[in-house]
Amino acid sequence: MCGIFAVYNHKKAAKITYEGLFGLQHRGQESTGIVTSDGSKVYKDKCKGMGLVSEVYVETNKEAKEGQVALEDLIGSMAVGHVRYSTTGSSSEKNAQPITITHKNDVYAIVHNGNLTNYCKLKSKLEDQGSVLNTSSDTEIILHLLIKSRKNSLEGKVYDVLEKIRGAYSFVLMANDELIAVRDPHGFRPLSLGKLDDAYVIASETCAFDQIGAEHIRDVMPGEVLKISQGYEKSVFLPERPHKFCIFEYIYLARPNSYVFGEYVHGVREEFGRRLFKEHPVDADIIVPVPDSGTYAAWGYSQKSGTMLKFGLSRNHYIPRTFIQPDSRSKGVELKLSPVKKILRDKKVVLVDDSIVRATTMGKIVRMVKDSGAKEVHVRISSPPITHPCYYGIDTPTKEELIASSKTVEEIKDFIKADSLGYLSKEGMLRCTRRCKKEFCTACFDGKYPVL
Ligand code: AMP
Repeated sequence: MCGIFAVYNHKKAAKITYEGLFGLQHRGQESTGIVTSDGSKVYKDKCKGMGLVSEVYVETNKEAKEGQVALEDLIGSMAVGHVRYSTTGSSSEKNAQPITITHKNDVYAIVHNGNLTNYCKLKSKLEDQGSVLNTSSDTEIILHLLIKSRKNSLEGKVYDVLEKIRGAYSFVLMANDELIAVRDPHGFRPLSLGKLDDAYVIASETCAFDQIGAEHIRDVMPGEVLKISQGYEKSVFLPERPHKFCIFEYIYLARPNSYVFGEYVHGVREEFGRRLFKEHPVDADIIVPVPDSGTYAAWGYSQKSGTMLKFGLSRNHYIPRTFIQPDSRSKGVELKLSPVKKILRDKKVVLVDDSIVRATTMGKIVRMVKDSGAKEVHVRISSPPITHPCYYGIDTPTKEELIASSKTVEEIKDFIKADSLGYLSKEGMLRCTRRCKKEFCTACFDGKYPVL
């Protein structure tokens, strides 16, 4: 779960990247970084930090406090930027991206979203051959494979790398005066191409383009190797593989205003909600979304049922980031959400959220709503039960921690102390998109892993 951004040919490349990363902050809050190039020099020192985009960057050195990055130091018209939420490798500054490598006279910088499934194998092979790895992130592997290639051109080197890596990857590589954007042949993670005046921009999601006023031209296609150099773009395609778009981008990860895999995320989420009502109707008094993740599905559910949507839970947006870190997510629930008692009292409530992972969140919310005087609490989830971990870049816990891997829906209902529990079926979920159902990866719901 990371966000990547790149710009080619803009005199304020660092500033544009900084603004674009704001739009991608939901994809990772642990660390961020920007590396720029002026065509002959790559600016990679003092370019990363732990924390949010708003915490790490300032305009000038004068304003910079310890650990902050001054945008004025990041010179040049090309840049790559990243926001990170770790899935491979620990949450530390050393693993923050962009990751850079200097080889002979060349400097390469990379930003990556995804997970290489053959990381361990490649890592031990590289180490056996004498490579010294500085991070515990799978992204660094790509750079080490790159400098081992005997090809002369950057493109040639990239093709050599692509023959060796497996799994989910959308990445952008920057060399002195060119950018190469790559999306794996299954297309697990999104990647889009945009234009801002004469500059090209690349981002994990189109919402980053909205942030900077760029126009979305098209997606970088699955299996596409897109080179941008001296104002032109050139694409080469890897051999075709079945599409395996991550359905969880629609369920939870992407921003509602992003255009992902050919449609707007909010539209799919609303359709999930309408379908959820069809599959699990309740004759209730009010429909209450769990903010913000359940909002659009709850709207769809309310629309289809004709029952009023009421904001019975209020979200606090000012919780310290440490409470939403991967290892302590549950601690934040009571701080993050508060019941609006007047709305909930004496009501038969349908609570709508996007997913149940460990069930800590929903257990606490049901108790909160009941303690506020609700008569009945019926939980509706706009995705199927998550039974398997993701190996393609979504942060999920081990199989043992996933409540649906060992409990039935009835048992989960008892665990969260709800009056009823209904999940959207896999078939129903896949019908809510315009694409053919075979084009999606649903491994977290059925254990059918497309690449191992
Ligand atoms: P849990 O308490 O573990 O069941 O977490 C469920 C909540 O976490 C839901 O409200 C989701 O919106 C949210 N969620 C789902 N997937 C993720 C994820 N990969 N990382 C962070 N939060 C998530």
